Amino acid sequence: MHSPTERETILTAATPQSIELAGQLLREGQLVGLPTETVYGLAANALLPEAVTEIFKVKGRPQDNPLIVHIADVNDIYLLVEDFPESARKLAERFWPGPLTIIMRKSGLIPSEVTCGQSTVAIRFPSHPTAIAVISAAGVPIAAPSANISGRPSPTTAEHVMSDIGGKIPLIIDGGACDIGVESTVITVVGEKPCLLRPGAVTKRQIEAVIGEIDLSPAVLSELERGEEAQSPGMKYRHYSPSAKVTLVRGSLAAFSEFLESNASDGTYALAFEGDETQLPVPCITYGREGDFSSQAHELFSALRKADELDARRIFARYPEGGEGLAVLNRLLRSAGFDVIEL
Ligand code: AMP
Ligand code: MG
Repeated sequence: MHSPTERETILTAATPQSIELAGQLLREGQLVGLPTETVYGLAANALLPEAVTEIFKVKGRPQDNPLIVHIADVNDIYLLVEDFPESARKLAERFWPGPLTIIMRKSGLIPSEVTCGQSTVAIRFPSHPTAIAVISAAGVPIAAPSANISGRPSPTTAEHVMSDIGGKIPLIIDGGACDIGVESTVITVVGEKPCLLRPGAVTKRQIEAVIGEIDLSPAVLSELERGEEAQSPGMKYRHYSPSAKVTLVRGSLAAFSEFLESNASDGTYALAFEGDETQLPVPCITYGREGDFSSQAHELFSALRKADELDARRIFARYPEGGEGLAVLNRLLRSAGFDVIEL
């Protein structure tokens, strides 16, 4: 039985009717779960403070973690930012629509609820046709963080969204599994030199090919010291965590297997690459192919959720080696609370 405060959530494919309904709900200030090419988003009208506040309630999101504003037409940016610097313009031209979020100085139109009081706003133009259609149908900019309960792995299917926040929002549009599977790359162009705050499918190298050298926020690969200020508030929170404790283990497959022989107990699972299963002495959950960033990103959050479904009590994860895998490594380090064993 549902409690009286719970609502039924409609879960539906993207059709002209469901997209129109989503647009209408958003205009009225309600929340909608929708697919993007990165992960599923929990969308609200970015211009309505009460709707934005509801996002924080539904997710249990910390009050100081600002939201990304999504647009479906580059020209809308002029309403949302104070200025659109040349570096941002070049990045938008090269990577939008797509998995890149750009932080700029906000205009007066953006409520402080979206930015948690900051003078900057994060903006993205997603490429998923359903996301574009819903934003266009709403006719307003859309604030949308990942559609998970804060702290849980981000949702990459409509079922993940349903399992986290079903009953709390009126509508979820099902677009199948997300292509990319990890959240957008976040870059700030406010300040002297642009700085990468969160790695994603658009890599540092790809960005540097367009605007020259950029900085990498130290929070991407290391834990912030107590009291140290995060340039991107999201980076200070525990994230992407299944219930079981996760530890990253760095070494060859043979060394990993030996490590498991002596360290596994009841309820231990290996998080490893496709094909590793046959070489390992404990049950295995796979996340893509060794050395292949896209397949790892695509599978990672589903794999972490699967660990919960299987009631895993302890997870040892193979370390994703390889330069282009920064996005996957960043998420895994966070889910492991930076616990890494070098073999
Ligand atoms: P999510 O939408 O849950 O994937 O999280 C959005 C990410 O963008 C978080 O890490 C936020 O801290 C970051 N972010 C959003 N707006 C800003 C901003 N104005 N300045 C810095 N980081 C931001
Ligand atoms: Mg998130």
